[in-house]
Amino acid sequence: MTTGLEALLDAPFEGDLDASHHMFRAACARFVRDEVAPHAHAWEEAEALPPDLWRRAADAGLLGPTFPQALGGGGGDVLHLVVSTEALVRGGSVGVAAGLGSLEIALPPVLHLGTPAQQAALVPPVLRGERVAALCVTEPGAGSDVAGVRTTARRAGDGWALSGSKLFVTSGVRADLLVVLARTGPDPHVGLSFFAVDKATPGVAVSRALQKTGWRASDTAELAFEDARLPADALLGPEGAAFGCLMQTFVRERLLLAAQGHAIAQVCLEDALAHARRREAFGRPIVGFQVVRHKLADMATRTLAAKAAVYRAAARLRDGACLPAEAAAVKNLAGDVARDVSHEAVQILGGMGYMRETRAERLSRDARLLSIGGGTREVMNEVIARALVDA
Ligand SMILES: Cc1cc2nc3c(=O)[nH]c(=O)nc-3n(C[C@H](O)[C@H](O)[C@H](O)COP(=O)(O)OP(=O)(O)OC[C@H]3O[C@@H](n4cnc5c(N)ncnc54)[C@H](O)[C@@H]3O)c2cc1C
Repeated sequence: MTTGLEALLDAPFEGDLDASHHMFRAACARFVRDEVAPHAHAWEEAEALPPDLWRRAADAGLLGPTFPQALGGGGGDVLHLVVSTEALVRGGSVGVAAGLGSLEIALPPVLHLGTPAQQAALVPPVLRGERVAALCVTEPGAGSDVAGVRTTARRAGDGWALSGSKLFVTSGVRADLLVVLARTGPDPHVGLSFFAVDKATPGVAVSRALQKTGWRASDTAELAFEDARLPADALLGPEGAAFGCLMQTFVRERLLLAAQGHAIAQVCLEDALAHARRREAFGRPIVGFQVVRHKLADMATRTLAAKAAVYRAAARLRDGACLPAEAAAVKNLAGDVARDVSHEAVQILGGMGYMRETRAERLSRDARLLSIGGGTREVMNEVIARALVDA
């Protein structure tokens, strides 16, 4: 039986969603039930997604729900993205959400900086699931310190020559389209530009497919660029515009990761509750032990708080009001809640919680990423402190 509180935890925040969100939520749930959940464990073990998953996700309307309809997107808002993220995490592998979702961080520079011709050429094939897109910002020597990027694009004839390497690129092994941050000038910030790079370009290579703690169903690459020759129209926007664009898109990326966080907590809470009701020890269901009951109560309380914070910030982003420090705070909150709730879920599941076949086990590993990817917990605190203390 589902209690009122359980239903509340699973429900979206009604005031923030309209009929289109509810229809989309149902479509996402169907896709995840039929196409993701039965295979998530196998994909995690294989550390790869089936090549046709992107096309099937596109057919179900899951790819690019917020992109303009003219480019093949859903024409929705950031709450559609929150809803699809919740559904995908419910499939039991955040790696699936990360792999299908790499376009959500790779395409914004094309949208914000690209000409209509570049947008029309680059975006629709990705949203049809025919091509996979990946964002290449991080390097072996520059992660949190984005301005430290050393990959260089220099003018060569009519076009550009790209040299350097990129690290931790989500979908980088599978990707066809790479959106690459490169240095076009000496200034740490205005010396950075974005380039749309076809992975088949001579001089572009996957140096390594990296093995990870979590997000295992999504591939992660180290990429090498050795004097790769790019056409003039590979440059996105004016030279030197990349840093500002990246800072703008961070808010959305961080909210997306925060949505993964509250969704991880939600699923882990459900699985822990179901297990605690079923499992007997010392002649009674373990849900009768006060220690377990109070763990569940704390898990529910924190999950509700994280979810409320994510929905509020997403609604404010839809309305153009979400502050960078607000997104950073919500990311840290939801990341902490995902970490703690998934940890307690593993504890309540006992030995089963340590088995790779359970969602709680996988999601507890996936949760670890949230304090690192998209800006570390410490860097988020710097963003918050700057807005709070230095403002
Ligand atoms: C699974 C995964 C997927 C990823 N996907 C992508 C992707 O698709 N594209 C992409 O470009 N990147 C991607 N990344 C990279 C990710 O964004 C970086 O790992 C992250 O920004 C941190 O950078 P770093 O790993 O170099 O750590 P570092 O910057 O070296 O940080 C190391 C430690 O130093 C601390 N630190 C650094 N600076 C400060 C400071 N100013 N104050 C206090 N502490 C500080 C950090 O908090 C951290 O604890 C991914 C990473 C992972 C793990």
